[in-house]
Amino acid sequence: MKLTKTINRKIISPLVYGLGIEQMLARRAAKHRIILNYHGVTDKFDLGINHRHMDVQQFERDILYFKKHFKIVSLSEIYNSYLQGETPQENLLALTFDDGYINNLEIALPILEKYNAPATFYIITAGLENPDFITWYDTLDMMRLADHNAHNYGELANQIKKMGNGRDVYIQGLTAQLPRYEEMKKRNPHYWQLMNNAQVLTCAKSKLIEIGSHTHLHYNVGNIDFALASEEMRLSKKILENLLQKEIVSIAYPDGNYTDKIKDEAQQIGYKQQYAVNYQLGSDANDTRILNRWSMSNSTTHEANMILLSTSLNSKGF
Ligand SMILES: [Zn+2]
Repeated sequence: MKLTKTINRKIISPLVYGLGIEQMLARRAAKHRIILNYHGVTDKFDLGINHRHMDVQQFERDILYFKKHFKIVSLSEIYNSYLQGETPQENLLALTFDDGYINNLEIALPILEKYNAPATFYIITAGLENPDFITWYDTLDMMRLADHNAHNYGELANQIKKMGNGRDVYIQGLTAQLPRYEEMKKRNPHYWQLMNNAQVLTCAKSKLIEIGSHTHLHYNVGNIDFALASEEMRLSKKILENLLQKEIVSIAYPDGNYTDKIKDEAQQIGYKQQYAVNYQLGSDANDTRILNRWSMSNSTTHEANMILLSTSLNSKGF
């Protein structure tokens, strides 16, 4: 690790955090609402596999901190507060989790329930009926574990992000060439397994959990054929509504990718709330259909994350 990073982690961050400077910054922020984006929470933390799952103890510290310094509200509540244009008494924070990993149910939900913290889980509906479904980026991670040097994985990811129909056959062709791929997949189920119907139903039964769409196959909908993108958004909404017997009102865009035309289509399909990771378009900041989210880093400390959060209230808050 670079020396400056080590100094920041070991000395500066704990000091700033210990003095409560980050809280002073948060209180002074002009914006008073923020939505956080997590993916997984794990009790088998391993950055050697990927950066998408937070260590469970760090996650619990996050929640304790939020309980103390923010009001944790549901996504619906934070969105309605924003629409009504009210200035909240205290800073509001909402939690979202993308992709629908089983660890959301098994590891994150018990902690959310322990602290009575609401959250929204965004589900990739292709995973509901196929226990072997694995997202393309988790596939790449398992490929990397099988053979680190087989591909330039960054380049491959960029290529895959542009693909629609044909993507999965293409990826299957790549994994078939790596003899250790299946073994790596079997060895690390915690890092890629998505919830099935029964597991999503169990989550939805908790009064703390809202469910939203993360599309059906997790294509970058802004990059692919428009008709396919539309079908992806429509199908996942229908599948979730059939399962849960209630209206699905929100969508989180895979890889934070969308266009103006996609936003219009999502609204047309019936999504009342849309969620980005970084605003993609100049019009987004004044578009009440879409809100930004702040991605929690799983590769830095709790203290550093809380400092980043306080400064992100102005850039990612609303
Ligand atoms: Zn995703």
